[in-house]
Amino acid sequence: MAHPWKHAESSAKKFGGKLEDYLPIHNWFDESKAFLPDFRHRALRHHAEGVFLCERIFGVAITNSDGRQVPVRYIGEQHVREDLGRIPTAQDWLSEIRSARWMYGQRLGY
Ligand SMILES: [Zn+2]
Repeated sequence: MAHPWKHAESSAKKFGGKLEDYLPIHNWFDESKAFLPDFRHRALRHHAEGVFLCERIFGVAITNSDGRQVPVRYIGEQHVREDLGRIPTAQDWLSEIRSARWMYGQRLGY
């Protein structure tokens, strides 16, 4: 699955309400495509810590247009699972980064 619209359709099917109820959350997950327009953008938010950050931003639950409260964490987990088949940790992503000299930092002269 790729587009936030498709994730939102899936949320509406799973949790009720309209896809528009869920679109802001799914857009947030995929906003990082603006920085890197290939699968690697997912390293920034598509992991367990990203799901918890999403909850901090959008609140513990949203009320959909059916008047039903839906935990934001469930919506985030649905997004990440649909994209990756599982919910990785941030460490899973970061451990795949090749090291470069500049990443070690610079020595300061004191
Ligand atoms: Zn995504």
